[in-house]
Amino acid sequence: MAIFDDIVGQDLALTVLRRALSAGAAHAYLFTGPSGVGKGEAAVEFAAALTCPDGGCGECDCCRRVREGIHPDVDVLSPEGTFITVDQIREINREVALRPFEARVRVYVILEAESMNVPAANAFLRTLEEPPPHAHFVLVSSQPEELLDTIVSRCQRVPFRRTPAPLLGRHLSERFGLSEIDATAFARVAQGDLAYGRRLASDPMAREWRLRLIEWARSIPGASTLDAENMLDEIFASVERQADARVEALDARKEADLGWAADARTRARVEKLHDQKVKRERRRAVNDGLEEVMRTLAGWYRDLAAAAMGADEAVLNHDYAYELQSEAFPGRVEAYVAAIDCARRATRRFRYNVDARCALEDMVLSIKEALL
Ligand SMILES: [Zn+2]
Repeated sequence: MAIFDDIVGQDLALTVLRRALSAGAAHAYLFTGPSGVGKGEAAVEFAAALTCPDGGCGECDCCRRVREGIHPDVDVLSPEGTFITVDQIREINREVALRPFEARVRVYVILEAESMNVPAANAFLRTLEEPPPHAHFVLVSSQPEELLDTIVSRCQRVPFRRTPAPLLGRHLSERFGLSEIDATAFARVAQGDLAYGRRLASDPMAREWRLRLIEWARSIPGASTLDAENMLDEIFASVERQADARVEALDARKEADLGWAADARTRARVEKLHDQKVKRERRRAVNDGLEEVMRTLAGWYRDLAAAAMGADEAVLNHDYAYELQSEAFPGRVEAYVAAIDCARRATRRFRYNVDARCALEDMVLSIKEALL
């Protein structure tokens, strides 16, 4: 697959990146925009293009290994626990000065860059002020306002946007051969989140899980404390299962990954990259899973509000048009809006590292209260 072929609806960002590749890339970029639109994927593609001897053919072993996260000259970093720590950054600072293993460059992709804590950010700034000629940094953040200004000002900004629903729908129907009705429904439900749209389009389990969450959203007003606890148990078990499955799939490839290492030094490096990848993917699976819960709930109450106002065409969950019409009461719009706020507040708390179970428990209680 050619470089950037998998990124949908990001013309502006891709124009900036293609120009950078043909004119000579800067040392530091900052990819910004909402989560789920493909910033991280684009950062890895960009890293492949910088590393590939052909400038990003998308076909060679170099491109392939960068995409799989096992090229020794491309490092993809994400928070360990809550923060990107000063130890993680010190390691970059040490490594970056060394000669590349096999490419002409060393590329560091830093996901969730806003989670660098202050010591980490200050340590990173030192390298960013005087990067070695072969170094490139790609910072990725959906909350760039949390980054130090002194870091932001040294990066070239690359803006990503929500994927428009019609474009996403077209992409889903072409890629996965969906009917127009399904493609439109999934594109709307995904609300501009390319990754989630693709998951719904390709994975029957993801579709079933969405239905289960909608059932739950509908049942919260009448749920007992025990019902709520049981549902939360089910949610956390499901999220863990998804994370385990992702890790298992990666571990099964470990030996093949290591097969690329020509000597002991490279092998140690690739092994480390593999472990980093496993941690990153596990964390991502858990985060995606929990955010999906809150988003599905917010989407459902949003649809109740839309239906209550007679704005049926604005409904996201098209396949529930009938239920929405019969369950939405015009006099309850404010209560629905309050319930949406509860789900969104939970998402924010979760992003700010409030204990996930605690955030979800509070959310259920406050939604129940709002809908009383
Ligand atoms: Zn290539």
